[in-house]
This record gives sequence, C-alpha cells and structure tokens, in this order.
Amino acid sequence: MKINLERQRAGSRDSQEFYFDIPGNDGYLKELGGKYRDNLEVKGLVEKSGEHYLLRGQVKTALELQCSRCLERFYYPVAVQFHLNLVESKYQAEYSRDEDVVFFSSDEAEIQPYIEGLVFSAIPLIPLCRPDCKGLCQQCGINRNLVQCQCRDENTDPRWDKLKNLKAGKEVT
Ligand SMILES: [Zn+2]
Ligand SMILES: [Zn+2]
Repeated sequence: MKINLERQRAGSRDSQEFYFDIPGNDGYLKELGGKYRDNLEVKGLVEKSGEHYLLRGQVKTALELQCSRCLERFYYPVAVQFHLNLVESKYQAEYSRDEDVVFFSSDEAEIQPYIEGLVFSAIPLIPLCRPDCKGLCQQCGINRNLVQCQCRDENTDPRWDKLKNLKAGKEVT
C-alpha cells in the first residue's frame, strides 16, 4: 500500500488521489482472536504542504471477531476516517511519536502498517456479538442467546460483580 510521491516531490503536481483494495494482514489481529473478512479499502487525497504531505482519507473493511460473552464469532464492519502526515525521514527529529506520521525516504511511502494500526484500534476492548448478548450460562455452559436453560440465575459471573461495584462507586462520588 504505497503512495508514490515522485511527481509531487518534483513539483509537477500539488495533489493526487489514491485508492487501494488489498488484503489486510491477520497477524495483527491474531492475539485478539480476530481476522479479516474483507479487503482493506483505502481511499483519499494527498496534498503537498511545504516540505510535507498531508494525507486525508478513509479506510473500510470488515473483521471477524469473537464475542467475549458467548464466544461466537461475528462479523464486524470497520470504517475510519484519518489524517496523516507523510514526512521525509530526514525531518524525523522534528516529530514526536504521538503524531500521526509516516516517514519515507525514497519516492514511496508505505502506509499499510499505519492503516492496520487504525483498524486494530477500532476493535472494542470487549467485543460483543450484539449489545444485549446474554452470554454462556455459568452453570451448564449453554449459549443463552439460543436456548433458555433451566439453571437458576444466580448472577455468578464475576464480570457482573465488577460492573455492580463500578456503578456503586460512581454513585458515591
Ligand atoms: Zn455474544
Ligand atoms: Zn444453564
């Protein structure tokens, strides 16, 4: 996913549009139990701004994630807008690590790791197949979205206790 800046660097063009439709790298998502279901579709505009290049665009894709309550896999669409600076490596010292910058040293800037980072950070901390997922029964292990079991509901899930404490704490302050 390389942006070719040759003509903009030479000054013969002020801006250029770009479009990519290529597979993402599952390696990033593996530790979260996720994977890509669609290509990374990335489009936008690069504008020259002095010595630097401002890239504005959006990335669209879809992931397959695992629900943290019922453990079912589900389809998760992602659409993120972004602003990014493309900067020649020789100016690297002027930029802090927090800024959205991709450095390049030849005529091409590789933006795929940055784009995959955006997709990664769009994944919720606690992925849920749906907001009201009922999860697995703590006693018989059945998926309670699909079947109503006969176990008594004792609210033994420690996550609910955590939530209760959190709410209680908020009311005090
Ligand atoms: Zn679920
Ligand atoms: Zn049960």
